[in-house]
Amino acid sequence: MTIKIEKRTNGNGRPVYVAQSAYADKDVLKEAGFWFHSMDRCNYEERYNKHCSACACNVNKAWWTPFADRAARLLEVAEMNADLRAELFRSIRDNEESMITPEQAASLTQQTAPRTSGITQEERNTILKGVQSLASVCDGAHALDGQGFNGVDAGFGHDLARRDYLSNNQTIAAARMIRKYSRQLDETVMIVVKSLIERFGARRNAN
Ligand SMILES: [Zn+2]
Repeated sequence: MTIKIEKRTNGNGRPVYVAQSAYADKDVLKEAGFWFHSMDRCNYEERYNKHCSACACNVNKAWWTPFADRAARLLEVAEMNADLRAELFRSIRDNEESMITPEQAASLTQQTAPRTSGITQEERNTILKGVQSLASVCDGAHALDGQGFNGVDAGFGHDLARRDYLSNNQTIAAARMIRKYSRQLDETVMIVVKSLIERFGARRNAN
């Protein structure tokens, strides 16, 4: 990690602490309370039709804060010149506990592990409803074109549809199976199907 902090001042005399950082450091900066600012898309300008402190200091595609105590949270992990370091040290006084340590910064920049659970009750219910709606128009092995399950899925599909609760694994398996019936399914069902497949893969061995 190489975060460099510098202090700029605008016409109002309000300080602007700007971080030069890599994309991977964004969580550390967010955690410290910095905001992202880009000159061509300033939220403040859009909202109040006025330039903000960051605009006044030409902060472009960078993280910044007007608050010394937020900048001070990065004292242990960021580079800065000696004067600024001394100034930020003075600003922390009694909130040292909020300082981000190198260990915390490292864990913040680590990729989040892929989730293996975290399926919500609403997702389970939505998938079950999707399965049941297919089963309700399905005549099993003799399925008409575009009506209910095909012959291969019919057994599993009807078995799931008879339940009133799906486990995590059943929910994922059902989502993978009903994906191909998108034309017969509600949009809300397909949104959940897509989300589950993004998180858990399209095939059983994909994760
Ligand atoms: Zn701005």
